[in-house]
Amino acid sequence: MQLIFEKGAPGRHLSLLPPCDVPEVAPQRPRTEPLELPELSENELTRHYSALCKRVHGVNDGFYPLGSCTMKYNPKINEELAALPGFTQVHPLQPEETVQGCLEVYAQTEALLNEITGMDAMTFQPAAGAHGEFTGLLLIKAYHRHRGDTERTKIIVPDSAHGTNPASAVMAGFTVVNVPSGPDGCVDVEALAAAVGPDTAGLMLTNPNTVGIFDKNILEITRIIHEAGGLCYYDGANLNAVMGLVRPGDMGFDVIHLNLHKTFSTPHGGGGPGSGAVGCKAFLAPYLPGPVVRREGGGFRFAAPEHSIGRVKDFYGNFTVVVKALVYLLTLGKEGIPEAAENAVLNANYMMARLREKYAMAYDQLCMHEFVMSLENLKEETGVSAMDIAKGLLDNGIHPPTMYFPLIVHEALMVEPTETESKETLDEACEVFLRLWEQAHTDPQALHDAPVTTPVRRLDEVEAARHPVLRYAGA
Ligand SMILES: *Cc1c(COP(=O)(O)O)cnc(C)c1O
Repeated sequence: MQLIFEKGAPGRHLSLLPPCDVPEVAPQRPRTEPLELPELSENELTRHYSALCKRVHGVNDGFYPLGSCTMKYNPKINEELAALPGFTQVHPLQPEETVQGCLEVYAQTEALLNEITGMDAMTFQPAAGAHGEFTGLLLIKAYHRHRGDTERTKIIVPDSAHGTNPASAVMAGFTVVNVPSGPDGCVDVEALAAAVGPDTAGLMLTNPNTVGIFDKNILEITRIIHEAGGLCYYDGANLNAVMGLVRPGDMGFDVIHLNLHKTFSTPHGGGGPGSGAVGCKAFLAPYLPGPVVRREGGGFRFAAPEHSIGRVKDFYGNFTVVVKALVYLLTLGKEGIPEAAENAVLNANYMMARLREKYAMAYDQLCMHEFVMSLENLKEETGVSAMDIAKGLLDNGIHPPTMYFPLIVHEALMVEPTETESKETLDEACEVFLRLWEQAHTDPQALHDAPVTTPVRRLDEVEAARHPVLRYAGA
């Protein structure tokens, strides 16, 4: 397929922009050469994007059980409301009194999410989950430093953690201490107790964790960290399993991030925009990035937290993602939010129960919103790997589950169906999984060769990772 730069012809164009209605200002450093932009007619442009659309698989195309990523269906009404001119035709530097509605969106969303998570204050500046982790860790750092407690340099991370957790801790200037999980997939509490000390700045944990299990020792875990003088960070990317049912604040967490683009209904997977909202307990609120929205008199204004760590993004974060989250929260309401979580858990358990008949579960117990299978035995018996099964799923119109993660499970496939899939879809997917299992025994070569129906066949992932081609070199 040709790139957009290889299409069109000089001088061909479409008029997308309305005539300028403000005085033109001469640029201070005018460009010396014309910008090399594609020149296409509207027709060519439409066909280009339409062709690209057909080459990807999204939630609108079919089942997408990508574990830990919560690829739920996002109601289209959210998009429509977020696109209202009152939300989109505003400028971030407009005077506060002219954007009171937008400020109220922040204030309302903050209040609802604080209620759901058991936090006291929130910032919507971070643009992604990992960005939220980084921000939350800077809060922890600022808190210790402000108290003169400068020896706390270590962040404890369980071995089941999402890769972004240790990466964010290092980015924030901490050293990472790994603690192992027990055979039940939960944190090894004895190992944790042995790992804490006067150098512990905090712990990062997601609960339910990345193997889909709610850590039953959570209160003891957060107590151990607090007694050692550390703070507890909750990676809220898995909140879809528990929203409206239990609150990280009640589990003992001091600071959290939420992936509004996973749990609270913004399409994701294409690189954004997202929102990694960071919530914290009142004692950490003075360190939040500024500005934050505060209610004052009958209206709202921006305020700078007293000991703010500073900005982590320009302006106020990805605003329309917050609008979509608010629409979602208000649509589902107090009953709908926990019901969505319960259905997410039910769907995962339903699929696990059906697949267990052939596939080995890494942790054979009730799961939360996702479950992890280990294809180690299947690979030994048939030579068919988790990768082969994933590619076979593509030929059946299903996006593969998360592969080879978490690292503690060999030949892992991590399945998260989400609450928005019907029983029919789950049944169809289970039948495909079971059929592929049979095929692994009868015709393993066919699975090594998969996919055969996709726009590209199997890619050389090692080559892509080692020698990524990131620049367009020219036609
Ligand atoms: C997705 C995810 C993240 C990171 O979120 P991004 O928005 O992709 O940066 C962190 N932790 C867990 C458990 C996740 O699933």
